[in-house]
Amino acid sequence: MNHLTDVDVQNKRVLVRVDFNVPIEDGQVKDDTRLQAVLPTLEYLQKQGAKIILCSHLGKPKGKKVKELSLAPVAKKLSKILNKNVMFCPECIGDEVKKTIDGLSAGDMLLLENLRFHPGEQANDKEFARNLGELADVYVNDAFGVAHREHASVCGVTSFVPECCAGFLLQKEIDYLSKVLKSPKRPFVAVLGGSKVSSKLGVLYAFIDKVDKIIVGGAMANTFLAAQGYCLGRSKVEQELFQEALEIIVKAKDKKVGFYLPVDFICGTGVKEKIGKGVCPFQEVPANEMALDIGPATSFLYAEVLKDAKSVVWNGPMGAFENSAFAQGSLNLAEDIARVDGLTVVGGGDTDALVHRAGLRDKYSFISTGGGSFLRFMEGHPLPALVALENCAQK
Ligand code: ADP
Ligand code: MG
Repeated sequence: MNHLTDVDVQNKRVLVRVDFNVPIEDGQVKDDTRLQAVLPTLEYLQKQGAKIILCSHLGKPKGKKVKELSLAPVAKKLSKILNKNVMFCPECIGDEVKKTIDGLSAGDMLLLENLRFHPGEQANDKEFARNLGELADVYVNDAFGVAHREHASVCGVTSFVPECCAGFLLQKEIDYLSKVLKSPKRPFVAVLGGSKVSSKLGVLYAFIDKVDKIIVGGAMANTFLAAQGYCLGRSKVEQELFQEALEIIVKAKDKKVGFYLPVDFICGTGVKEKIGKGVCPFQEVPANEMALDIGPATSFLYAEVLKDAKSVVWNGPMGAFENSAFAQGSLNLAEDIARVDGLTVVGGGDTDALVHRAGLRDKYSFISTGGGSFLRFMEGHPLPALVALENCAQK
C-alpha cells in the first residue's frame, strides 16, 4: 500500500475520501471530532500544493437527495477550523463538478455533496466509481470508519485513478490496531459490551485465539447468561444466538482464556426509565425489569481482572449509559482501563462518546474512529478498503 508521503501531489487533483458522517442539528455541526481527525492529511496536502477534493457520506439518504443530509454545513465548519475557505459543490459527479475542479488552484479545497445521494455509491457501481475517479489524478483514502464497506468511493474508485494511497489517519489506525494484534504485551485483555451481539460474536470468537482474558458486559452479557439458563426478566436477549454463545464459552475454556461475565446488575423497567429494583445479583433480575448496567460487585471484579493487563482492546459500553442512572458501570470501567499501564485501544462510536463523557480521552493510547471497521479488523478480516489500495499500488 502506498503512503501519502510517497506520492507527488503538487498541483495534482487529489480526491480524498473522508468520513464526515457527523451529527448535524439545525444546520450546525454538533461534534467535529471526525473533522479534526483528518486535519493532518488536509494540512499536509495544502502545504504540498495539491488541489484538494473532499468526498464523504452523511447519514442514510438511500440513494436520493435529502436536504437535511447535505454536507454544506460541514464545509462551513471546516472553513472555520482551517481558517480558510472550503468551497462546496452541490453535486459529487458530473460536468458541473469537473468545471469547478478545473478552476481550482494549488492549495484550494472543495467538498463534494453527500456521495450517498447516488445509489451507485453503496452499490459499488462501476459507472459511478468511474465518474468519481475521473475527477482526480490521485486518490487518498482517509476514512477508516467505512474501510469495511464495499462502496464505490472506497473500493471501485481505485480502479479509475492513476495513483492511490492511504491518508495519515487511515495509516495511523492500521498501525495501532496491527500493533496490538500482532505483538501484544501480555496479559492481553479484550473488553466487549454494547447492544448488537450478532455483530460482535465473530470478533469475540476470534479474540479467544489472541487474548488472555475476555470481559463481557452490556446487553451482550445478557445473551451469555440467558444461554446458560438464567432468567433475566425483560432484559435485551438474542435467543437465536444462544448456541453460538455457548460455543464461545466452551472454546474459551478449552483455550484457557478467562471469560468474565457480570455477577450483579443495576435493574430498571426501561432504558429511559429510573432505577427499579436497583442492584441485584445476576440470579435475581425481577421478571418485569431489565438488567441495564453492571453492578458494583462486577465493577470491582473487572477492575481486578484489568489490574495487571499490559494490552487492552475495548468496544461497547457496560450498560445503557446514555441514562445517567445506568452509566456508573461504564464510567468505572473507563477509569479502570485508563489506569492500565500498557497499550489501551478503544473502538466504537458509543464507546468513544462514553470515554469522552468520562473526560478520559487523553488517558488512552488510541481511540479508533471506526466502529464496524474496527471490529472487522480486530476479527482479522481483510478490510475491502485496504485490499483496494493494495491492488491499486500493484497496477
Ligand atoms: P459501540 O457504538 O461503541 O460499538 P454499541 O452500539 O454496540 O457500542 O452499543 C451501545 C449501546 O448499547 C448503547 O446505546 C447502550 O445504551 C446499549 N446498551 C448497553 N448495555 C445495555 C443493556 N444492558 N440494555 C440495553 N441497552 C444496552
Ligand atoms: Mg453504537
